Amino acid sequence: MTRATTSFTILGAGLLGRLLAVTLARQGHTVSIYDKGGPLGEHSAARVAGGMLAPLAESAVAEHGVVRMGRHALARWPELLAPLAMPVYFQQEGTLLVWHRQDAPQAAHMRQQLDATRAHIPELPAMEWLDAEGMARIEPALAPRFAQGMYLPGEGQLDNRQLLASLAQEMERLGVQVHWNTPRELAAFGSGHTGWLLDCRGLGARGEWPQLRGVRGEVIRIHAPEVTLQRPTRLLHPRYPAYIAPKENHVFVIGATEIESEDLSPVSVRSTLELLSAAYAVHPGFAEARILESSVQCRPALPDNLPAIRQVAPRTLQINGMYRHGYMIAPALHDVVLELLDQGASALGSRFDLAMELL
Ligand SMILES: Cc1cc2nc3c(=O)[nH]c(=O)nc-3n(C[C@H](O)[C@H](O)[C@H](O)COP(=O)(O)OP(=O)(O)OC[C@H]3O[C@@H](n4cnc5c(N)ncnc54)[C@H](O)[C@@H]3O)c2cc1C
Repeated sequence: MTRATTSFTILGAGLLGRLLAVTLARQGHTVSIYDKGGPLGEHSAARVAGGMLAPLAESAVAEHGVVRMGRHALARWPELLAPLAMPVYFQQEGTLLVWHRQDAPQAAHMRQQLDATRAHIPELPAMEWLDAEGMARIEPALAPRFAQGMYLPGEGQLDNRQLLASLAQEMERLGVQVHWNTPRELAAFGSGHTGWLLDCRGLGARGEWPQLRGVRGEVIRIHAPEVTLQRPTRLLHPRYPAYIAPKENHVFVIGATEIESEDLSPVSVRSTLELLSAAYAVHPGFAEARILESSVQCRPALPDNLPAIRQVAPRTLQINGMYRHGYMIAPALHDVVLELLDQGASALGSRFDLAMELL
């Protein structure tokens, strides 16, 4: 699979599509990209996401290969963000896990899962178990309410909307031919297309990849001038786990529900109560916060909830199934795709146990 031509057509300008478009254009290729929505990414999961980059925290629900991709991506994000003209908020201050006293068994279980993950992937930074003093050191604002916690150093987060805006600007700057509000199917390009076709449409690819399903997620954005948190905080809870991701200027994203449904109707009262109660339980200062927005999207998932790459025609790749880990792993998939385009195989992909179906 050598790169026989320098022309790329990308379907889907969500997270992965924009990242690839910018890199390929920077490498000097002719790139055109189509999206059914506009530059805000209003039809993308990428716009709604929390932007958390937390491979160890996610290891409770993710395979080791995905955790490895997350580690790789954490190192790559600063390199991908550095050349962008419009800055993107990115931090790597770790993740804090807290729980109510009655949920101590949940915390003990989580600790076991984290230890098991580290036994498989020793390069992950060690989790630090915090007592009251440790809590006061790591996140003073929460120390009065939580006498214990778990700190996962090195984990990160970014501002997803700043990233989408910055990548959109970069595509224009690099001369990518951008076709907003222009939905396209693979078939529209037929077998006669001369360049490469990269399908990054997330759930929009379901016509050609029927195993894809959407997993509904709801988040609430709030402005809480009275609350300062240094890093994303997760509340462990048997029924209502939630995270609070602090962005710039005291904006917080509270998320995210996970519902096996493709319903895109507005956030339910139940979810609103659960998410905001969790936030209030973590810090009472959230009571005076202002609700900026509540939003819903579906995460693109394959039956095993793992990402996959498949080649459906000689110069056509589909990349999909990033599920709830798109930001956490996108730079890893981006690097695998570049390797595939260059060499026809990807050692990196094998290291990540990534499903790659190539012709
Ligand atoms: C509530 C929620 C919270 C999340 N939180 C996190 C998180 O904290 N950390 C994390 O790592 N991940 C998170 N995710 C997951 C992450 O957002 C996704 O994994 C990621 O956005 C998938 O990227 P993608 O580029 O494959 O698809 P998308 O970002 O969905 O982009 C697909 C694009 O394709 C376009 N498209 C669709 N059909 C067509 C068509 N026919 N023609 C042209 N264009 C089309 C769409 O308009 C869209 O712009 C979250 C997701 C949700 C929903």
